[in-house]
Amino acid sequence: MTDSDEKLATENLAMVREQMSKAAKIAQRKVEDVRLIAISKTRSADEIRPLMEAGHRLFGENRVQEAAGKWPALRDAFGDVKVHLVGQLQSNKAEDAVELFDAIHSLDRPSLVKALAKAMDKLDRRIPCFVQVNIGEEPQKGGCEISDLPDLLQSARSAGIEVPGLMCVPPSGVHPAPYFALLAKLAKENDLSGLSMGMSGDFESAIKLGATHVRVGTALFGART
Ligand SMILES: *Cc1c(COP(=O)(O)O)cnc(C)c1O
Repeated sequence: MTDSDEKLATENLAMVREQMSKAAKIAQRKVEDVRLIAISKTRSADEIRPLMEAGHRLFGENRVQEAAGKWPALRDAFGDVKVHLVGQLQSNKAEDAVELFDAIHSLDRPSLVKALAKAMDKLDRRIPCFVQVNIGEEPQKGGCEISDLPDLLQSARSAGIEVPGLMCVPPSGVHPAPYFALLAKLAKENDLSGLSMGMSGDFESAIKLGATHVRVGTALFGART
């Protein structure tokens, strides 16, 4: 890690925090009520470390395998770090995921409720799981159907899984705000307070519409190659 890497990480972090503050202020919200998850997928430990040196402690990954290769060592170096899984999870990786992550943002089907509950029981470790909603009803995307949400929440709760809120990735190429508003409405209808929504291009809009967790990669680390 060079001084300039660290300087860039510090500057990017400060800039994103500033943008978050402005968005929160417009919405008359406290910026402390919005967690910044630095999405470190595809980034090496050397790219991640400057952000940790700058004081950041909450990260997100989208693949179990990749996270397993990077995070145990980084956790040893910075004991108080938290890592969330924000990508699709296969049921056969549920146990690895429960062991590795502090929260999951992609609970989206009954079979995964089962696999996660089983893994949590086996490891005697409970981690919160956001339920991902396929908010734009896109066939190729992860997330449960909007109409399946109440049943899925019910089954997660009866399996003893803590659900802090809902997560979405809106369709690309269209304005995301209506989808953020819809996710907020669904959360409210289901008595959930957490909203994992907003990425580099749209986290300010997400904050104005109630995001409690924004997932930001590119704006912190630069473009992925
Ligand atoms: C990659 C990713 C992000 C971050 O995207 P950026 O545009 O780089 O900020 C957020 N959420 C999920 C689910 C992702 O896969």
